[in-house]
Amino acid sequence: VPEHPSPVLRLIRPNVLRLTPYRCARDDYDQGILLDANENSLGPPLASEHALASAGLERYPCPYQRDLKTTIAAYRNGATGTLTPDNLFLGVGSDEVIDLMIRVTCSPREDAILITPPTYGMYSVCANIHDVPIISVPLVATATTPLPSFHIDPKAILKAVTPRTKIIFLCSPGNPTANVIRLADIQAILNAKQYKGFVVVDEAYIDFAEQASLCTLVTAHRRLVVAQTLSKGFGLAGIRLGVAFGDPELIQILNNVKAPYNINKLTAKVAREAFENVPLLQAKVELILSEKTRVIAALQALPFVQQVYASDANFVLFKCSNAFRVYKEMAEAGVVIRYRGNQLLLDDCLRATIGSPDENDRMLALFAEVSTRLL
Ligand code: PMP
Repeated sequence: VPEHPSPVLRLIRPNVLRLTPYRCARDDYDQGILLDANENSLGPPLASEHALASAGLERYPCPYQRDLKTTIAAYRNGATGTLTPDNLFLGVGSDEVIDLMIRVTCSPREDAILITPPTYGMYSVCANIHDVPIISVPLVATATTPLPSFHIDPKAILKAVTPRTKIIFLCSPGNPTANVIRLADIQAILNAKQYKGFVVVDEAYIDFAEQASLCTLVTAHRRLVVAQTLSKGFGLAGIRLGVAFGDPELIQILNNVKAPYNINKLTAKVAREAFENVPLLQAKVELILSEKTRVIAALQALPFVQQVYASDANFVLFKCSNAFRVYKEMAEAGVVIRYRGNQLLLDDCLRATIGSPDENDRMLALFAEVSTRLL
């Protein structure tokens, strides 16, 4: 079979490329008396004075989410970006984006993804679900100032890829590593002749970072995909909304494969309102960033903390004595952080989300108390 002329469509699984997607009458007619989709015109069993009684919940949501995509594209474009709604896919969290990217590109047992551990766990969970092999090229711990950080090794990555590597997943800021990946390292991979697959940059935590999002670069790099979420900076983990920015040909494929009405009306409504309230978003992000500075200083002052790592996210990764026991005892005393010492390069590491000032005080006090007791 000759290769597809499009550098994007040639990366799509043959059966997905051939797919006839689901269609409904409303793709052609969405006005008038709608008796096409077996909905209940009488509406939900909510009291008539209920705030959502007249929210149109008896009807399926728009399958293309045009309004919300326009809002998000405008926000991310700022003054100079050229994203259009056709560059955006909306998913049930960025977890759906990750899963769909693997599903549309990788034939089970034939194609592979590449990850850079320690990294976000869902890349390998999704690959395992779809029986897709995983190539691992570890991050490199680097002595940066003022705090050490973790970086990708572009040369090692480019050496490890094969013609069947369909996606390289890069997490920036990294989870659990917390720092952003250098733009030059990502560009080295995007511009390398020996790799023709997608580069997915997972920017779940980008709203906390000083470094700008790469999402507007997808119009220049057709194989770059940027994943974002409203679960972190926007404080909306409960509505489950993720975004993929990419080439329109890829976005069309993701739309063909997603469940028809994946983004529900309540999610779309709350998300649109959040984008109308940018000053409030910024104020909340600022508070978390100043709390992060305070938490890092407090951790550094403690004798049982051996290392705090650089953070461009809303959490800190740090190395301490008795990490696993500290984690367990803290959780049992009512403050749950995350033990990450079971991951590559992260011996004795804990990861703590920056919470409200009161939550952070409580976390720091309990951490000091438990660590002192275990010494
Ligand atoms: N990517 C990263 C790096 C994450 O840490 C998370 C959530 N922990 C996600 C993606 C998924 O986020 P969501 O599905 O809530 O959008």
